[in-house]
Amino acid sequence: MARTALITGISGQDGAYLAKLLLEKKYKVIGTDRRSARSVNWRLSRLGIENKIIHEEMELGEIYEIQRVFKKYKFDEVYNLAAQSFVATSFRSPINTANITGLGSLRILETIRTLNPKIKFYQASSSEMFGDVLNKFQNEETPFNPQSPYAVSKLFSHYLTKNYRDSYNLYAVSGILFNHESPLRGEEFVTRKIIKGLIDILHNKIQFLELGNLYAKRDWGYAKEYVEAMWLMLQQKKPEDFVISTGKTYSIKEFINHATNYLNMETKWVGKGLDEKLINKKNSKIIIKINKKFFRPAEVNFLKGSYKRALNKLGWRPKTNFKNLIKIMIDEELKNNY
Ligand code: NDP
Ligand code: GDP
Repeated sequence: MARTALITGISGQDGAYLAKLLLEKKYKVIGTDRRSARSVNWRLSRLGIENKIIHEEMELGEIYEIQRVFKKYKFDEVYNLAAQSFVATSFRSPINTANITGLGSLRILETIRTLNPKIKFYQASSSEMFGDVLNKFQNEETPFNPQSPYAVSKLFSHYLTKNYRDSYNLYAVSGILFNHESPLRGEEFVTRKIIKGLIDILHNKIQFLELGNLYAKRDWGYAKEYVEAMWLMLQQKKPEDFVISTGKTYSIKEFINHATNYLNMETKWVGKGLDEKLINKKNSKIIIKINKKFFRPAEVNFLKGSYKRALNKLGWRPKTNFKNLIKIMIDEELKNNY
């Protein structure tokens, strides 16, 4: 019989890719998000699956809403992807972030524990939990050192997932996913912001792009591959947490340099600190400048994950490298938005 899965955060980047994957595996997919004025889910329509999913409204702040959905369907697997997921916003809205990104997962765990403890539960943990990193390579044993209300909230959910696994014998696991990007990434995240910004400049839609810290380094992978790891984590004999990453790290500046290169833009960096700028070599116009408002009160300067356990136990490895990821994002952006 077809298995039934719940994906919370269906309107997000990972929700769309995971829904596509589960539909290909013949799951019945119930996708939830909060009420919104949006009528069209652009990510699901981009993947051609908008009408293949059963949609339910489920605000993560409301336990009765969650219970209603869990009573209506008999879920085999639950993927909790919904969250206030943007680090910068978590500094401005720490209480809402704690309520949704932190307590939201607890509401689901409590619902599973009380209504149907056989359900397998996946929690979307984040490399942001490593924060000001305490090891050069971060793996499942690396101590956490969170640097934002977002990361602290994710850590709360991470530990509770483990606690419910240990206390109540639930099949509850966390995937500690490093940054993963795609053409479906939200425009506020730095990779998509850069790509969209550079193309807007080329099309004379905007004059220049403003960014914050260019020297932070991230381990960036391709979201489409990362959702396969989520599914694999729920198919194991024993519930266990896994790091999912590429094992490579690049700065924001390196991301920009690769993107401008692929777009055939001739550019040069000038100045230092807040005066650093990327200039168009041909006409000397500014392409990128720094704006203090995009710096965070506390920064995560360096992330690089080891996916060794995932390779050994799940047979998962990343396939798309940094350069190809940028190419995929630029090609799709040009195709769909211009
Ligand atoms: P997105 O920001 O694209 O999606 C987040 C989803 O959560 C959206 O569907 C959003 O709905 C929903 N949501 C937000 N608030 C609520 C709420 N109060 N009630 C119900 N739903 C809500 O995130 P991604 O798809 O990129 O990431 C998926 C998960 O993985 C997130 O939890 C994220 O924190 C985590 N993660 C992501 C990483 C990445 O690099 N992408 C890295 C590590 C972890 P709406 O459309 O209405 O905003
Ligand atoms: P995060 O790792 O989940 O915070 O993903 P983001 O894509 O939001 O940010 C990645 C890194 O890019 C962080 O270190 C940010 O400080 C840095 N960054 C620099 N400028 C910007 C910007 O304008 N927007 C965003 N979102 N991040 C920026």
